Amino acid sequence: ATPTALLVGTGRGSQLGILIGGPQALERTRGVDTVVLDKTGTVTTGEMRVDAVLAAPGAGLRDAELLAVVAAAEDGSEHPVARAVVRAARAQGLAVPGAEQFTAAPGAGVQAVVDGEVVVVGTARWLAEAWALTVPEPLAAQVATAEAGGGTAVLVARGGGVLGAVVVADTVKPEAAEAVRRFVALGLRPVLLTGDNEGAAHAVAAAVGIDEVHARATPASKLDTVRRLQTEGRSVAMVGDGVNDAAALAAADLGIAMGAGTDAAIAASDITVVNGRLTVVADAVRLSRATLRTIR
Ligand code: ADP
Ligand code: MG
Repeated sequence: ATPTALLVGTGRGSQLGILIGGPQALERTRGVDTVVLDKTGTVTTGEMRVDAVLAAPGAGLRDAELLAVVAAAEDGSEHPVARAVVRAARAQGLAVPGAEQFTAAPGAGVQAVVDGEVVVVGTARWLAEAWALTVPEPLAAQVATAEAGGGTAVLVARGGGVLGAVVVADTVKPEAAEAVRRFVALGLRPVLLTGDNEGAAHAVAAAVGIDEVHARATPASKLDTVRRLQTEGRSVAMVGDGVNDAAALAAADLGIAMGAGTDAAIAASDITVVNGRLTVVADAVRLSRATLRTIR
């Protein structure tokens, strides 16, 4: 590889809005045959909105009170679910109490002390595994219905009891379906990989034309999925934006961070798409291949 050809490649890259980590990034795109896409913030805008607040009948809270408690616990989180909840509470003019001892579990949820009690917000699986909490009926059935309809439901618990759930909805990026068509045209097999539930994952996959879907992935199982594909002989480009994607981005043959994403995702990647447009990822693969042809 001559330095001049690489400079040309990276110069065109910056015109496209791509930051290329170094010559090895171009080299790595050569054999890529699979593109694994994170859902939230990568295929979708990550601008979620609250669709429903489901206070558990036995919990004795009104929907607005439940939303205020969730907003308090989520105030310290940058996750799209958290931003949606805080925005909705603000839009309704709710008095959101302060929170202390906030901690986030990437790909699972958050915990904080609100009004002297521990509040946890996150997936049903995390509530079961980390907090030994099960979701009572009829809330469990309501959550299942919301998820089957493509929603993302997060469970809320306080003081050892499940209080309810908040259902949020995500929006597919306008260029996502076109980007998937370009991946396929470049001979790349698209795979959707998400920590979200099956219903939400399949709704997005169907909207953009992806057949292979892996849902309810933890940050560790995102890494496992990339490694398993590599073991099967695939050369994997991983595209993601979150802390939860960092390990998978680093393990992939080519890691691509969406520019609006977290520092952890960008640091773990070979390429950053500054404006976060998914079609630019396909353009980046095409550019890298063309640049390598120039070099050889
Ligand atoms: P994705 O892989 O789609 O980017 P994440 O790994 O970030 O999703 O999150 C997976 C799931 O974990 C979310 O769908 C949500 O149910 C839960 N979760 C993650 N962060 C939070 C949070 N701050 N509050 C509530 N739930 C969360
Ligand atoms: Mg994401």
